[in-house]
This record gives sequence, structure tokens and C-alpha cells, in this order.
Amino acid sequence: MSLEEIDDIQERRAIERTLAQFDISQETIQKGVAYFIKQMEEGLSNETYSNDFLPMIPSFITHIPDGSETGLSLAADLGGTNFRICSVNLNGDHTFDMEQFKRKVDTTLMNGEDATSEEFFAYLARQVRYFLNKHHKFYLEKSESDLSKNPIKMSFTFSFPINQTSIDKGTLIRWTKGYNIPDAVGKDVVTLFQYALDEAKLPVKIVAITNDTVGTLLANSYSTLTQSKTVLGAIFGTGTNGAYPEKLENIKKLDPKIRAHLESKGVKDMIINTEWGSFDNKLEFLPTTIYDETVDSETSNAGVHLFEKRISGMFLGEIVRLVILDLHRRKLILNNYELGEDTLKNMSGGGSIRKSDSSTTLISLTNYPRRPNTKRFSHLVYTEWSLSTENLSRIQVDDSTELSVTELVLEEALHINTTYLDRLIIKKVTNAVSQRAALLASIAIAAVVLKTGRTGLTLSDDGQLVQTKHNDEIVEVGVDGAVVEFYPGFRKTIIKGLKLTQLGEQYSSKIEIVIAKDGSGVGAALCTKSYIE
Ligand code: ADP
Ligand code: MG
Repeated sequence: MSLEEIDDIQERRAIERTLAQFDISQETIQKGVAYFIKQMEEGLSNETYSNDFLPMIPSFITHIPDGSETGLSLAADLGGTNFRICSVNLNGDHTFDMEQFKRKVDTTLMNGEDATSEEFFAYLARQVRYFLNKHHKFYLEKSESDLSKNPIKMSFTFSFPINQTSIDKGTLIRWTKGYNIPDAVGKDVVTLFQYALDEAKLPVKIVAITNDTVGTLLANSYSTLTQSKTVLGAIFGTGTNGAYPEKLENIKKLDPKIRAHLESKGVKDMIINTEWGSFDNKLEFLPTTIYDETVDSETSNAGVHLFEKRISGMFLGEIVRLVILDLHRRKLILNNYELGEDTLKNMSGGGSIRKSDSSTTLISLTNYPRRPNTKRFSHLVYTEWSLSTENLSRIQVDDSTELSVTELVLEEALHINTTYLDRLIIKKVTNAVSQRAALLASIAIAAVVLKTGRTGLTLSDDGQLVQTKHNDEIVEVGVDGAVVEFYPGFRKTIIKGLKLTQLGEQYSSKIEIVIAKDGSGVGAALCTKSYIE
């Protein structure tokens, strides 16, 4: 299937140019790796947060599990799309038993006009009650005085940027991934949640606040049966982020008293939550199209988390939807639909009218003549976020001759009828957007691996690969999230991208990308055992 099938050379070129805006060269990838490491280093030294570097949040988790851990604990996980609760019983032999429950978070509580933290956390507490009632009734039946002495330990996986000052304290820096509960910003979310649990008279004590990436790293370390060390836990779900163990001496911003205390207990490393979603917030390096700018302008955290907005599940479908609208406006696809009033209104608001570069000719919308015999689009075509990344997965995997799965997906999601050529082009767009996402992901992974030096290699200040020691070890990267787990070819493209980094074919083959199944939950449970008081 190729664009050769488009007869009109001008049109074909215009489409090719649009697709080419999502290409990333090897040079760009390598520049990205070097810049990423620089942003990590600055984040480790600077105490106050800034857009100039990565947040690099100390997690206060200092013990990497080895599979021998035992016992029962609870984990609550607020991702982006779902709230999950699980209880995990670690068997001490790399295996565990788990009960879990998940619920899609109600959008009015998450970002409604009157959304308040009190109502939001009370809602979470109600889910915890429901879960305990279903799976651990015993704890609800014990007398209150018994339980206040011996509550169940819970770890709270809260995957938003926080300023963490101890294992169980984290103030919210800002919401991401579509959340917006203004009064919670600047507050300690453990206090807010614990208050709601206490109000609901639940026998639960939050002992650790953590992040899904930290959980993924711990879970993979616990579960792996190989001798390989896990160097990184990474998430590609609604959002994207990574966590890795860093030497205490390199975490320059850590309070000297805390460092001295940990060193006196023999601690050498602490897991750092990079918050890499906000890599390059100043756009010094990231490839940017008008579609990226428009997506950003549609979000409640415009101007930040720009790396995430090019990679993760929340955004990829929306980027594709905007490209579809733009191609239609330029008469390149869906020509049996008219350029209605709606098109004018919606496209001029989002900023995608602007020319991205001189090679892309965008038609003028004023006085544009109606095409004869055309239909009107359903409002869904103009509805922000109406095309999900899950839909893109189905388009990506469609290899039927008529692209009939794609036809169905577009009909279902956007209520449009497509010709074969429309579908062919939309499939190419999907491919271009997801390829770029996975290649950007490999920049982050290569940068962290090189920063740790765990493969015996680092980058010099001028970006050259330096071998520090001979090392034949394989290292593991534990990954979790629906995009890396289910998006066809995503993991493969990450591996391809790693080869294009400074690690090249030879050294990138030492990195194994492992899906840490149920990572967040197990990892969070492990957090209740992985810190020093
Ligand atoms: P969370 O980030 O909340 O923990 P997930 O890891 O389940 O949640 O990721 C949810 C995101 O992944 C959503 O943006 C959704 O559109 C996307 N997604 C869900 N299923 C798939 C799929 N099969 N292929 C690609 N993306 C998917
Ligand atoms: Mg998740």
C-alpha cells in the first residue's frame, strides 16, 4: 500500500510533506539523548523546579527488591484514566497473589468546573471501602480500636508531578493528563487522601507516596528471574515517565541531613522519578508541528509536558484527528465532505491555520466555494479528543486489502464514510505519528541507560560515547502502560530507535525491554517495604 496510488502528483507531494513533518533524523535523536542527559544532571542539582531542566524528584525509595520480600499490603493507583486499588501478597519467591479493582474516574470530579479536592478524595476513599468490603471484609469488621493500632499499610501511586520531601509527603506541583482540581495544587496529597480515609473510618494508613514508574521499576526487580538488573522503569500509558536508581552522591539537591542519615545506614542509591514528560519544555530540541501546537493549546496545562504530548496515549489520537482535519481543509482527503461553518470556527481557534513551513500551502478559508454534492461532517470530527489512541491501534494493525477495519474505526469514532484512498492516507498519518512517538521514547530510554553507566558506557560532555568499563551484562527496562503493551509495533520501534542513538546496534542489543505486567500495583505494594525511616 503506497501513496503512489494517488494520481495527482501535487496532491501526493503535499501529503508526503505533511507526513515528513513527523520524521526524526538520527542526528536529531542523538542530539536529543545528549540534551536529555544534560537536563537530568541539572535537575539533580537544582532544588527549585524550573522549565529549564527535568524535575528529577527523589522518591525516598532506597531498596531495590530482589524477589525475597513477603507480606500483604494495599496499593491505590491514580494513573490518568483509571483509579485502581489492589492488595498484593508477596510470596517471597518472585511471585505474588493479587486482588484488584479498577474504575474510570468520573470526569466531573476530575476536571469539572466545581471540582474540589475534598470531594475527589472522598470519592477515592469510597472506592477503597468498596474494595475492602469485597476482598478483605475482615478488616472492616475488626473493632475500631484494634485497627487504629494496626492499620493496613497502603502505598499511594500518584502519577502527577509532586514535590516529595519524604516517603509519605508530596505536594502537588501541577495537574497533568486532563486533571484540574485547582485547590489541590500546592497541597500534600497524602494528607488530603488520609483525611478522606479517616473520615470514612477506614483502617488504612498511607505509608508511602510513589509514582507508577517507581512501581514499575520495583515490580520488575521483584519479578525478574534473570540475573539482569533493572535500570529503568518506564510508563507509556495515558502519560509517559521514567524512574531509575541514582547514586546518592549524584543527587546534589538532596538535603545533606537526609543524605548523611541514609549513608549512615549503608544506603548507596535512591530511585529518582525523572518526570520526563516535561523534557525540553522550552522546545530547544523537540520536533514541533502545527498539530502539536494545537494539541498543547487544547490542554489545561498548555506550555508544559511537551515531550509527553508527543508520545503518550492521551495525545496521539488527537494529533491524528487534527492532521485529518487539516488534510481535509486542504482538499487532500474526505472530499465528499464540505468545508462547513464548523470547520472555519474550529480550525481558526486552535492555531492550526498558521503555516508550519513554507513548503506546506494551506488554503485560504475566506470566500472558499462550497464543493458540489458534499455532506456535512458529524460534530465528532470537530470534537477534541474524539479519536482515541486505542482507535489508532486498530488502524495500525489493519492489513486487509480494502482497509476495512480502518473504515469501521473511522465510522465508529468520527462518523465519517471514507474512500479507500482516504483510509490509506489516514493510515499513513497514524503510522507517522506513532513512529515519532516511539522514536522519542527511545531517546529517553537511551539517555537514562547512558546516565547510569550501567552498560559500561557514558556520554562525554561533547556527546561522544565513552567506554568506562567492560560489561557484557544485559540490563532490563521494565515498561508498563497500554500504549507500549498494546500499540502494534511500539516496542519494536523503540528498539529500532535505540539502535539509532549513540548506543548503536552493538550496545543497544544489551537493553531488554520487558513488559512489567501489573507493574504499578505490585511495585506500589513493594514501596511499603522499600524505604528507611
Ligand atoms: P493509565 O495511564 O491511566 O495507567 P493505561 O496504561 O491503561 O492507563 O493507558 C491508557 C491510555 O492508553 C489511554 O490514552 C488509551 O487511549 C490508551 N490505550 C488503551 N488501549 C490501547 C490500545 N489497545 N492501544 C493503544 N493505546 C491504548
Ligand atoms: Mg498506569
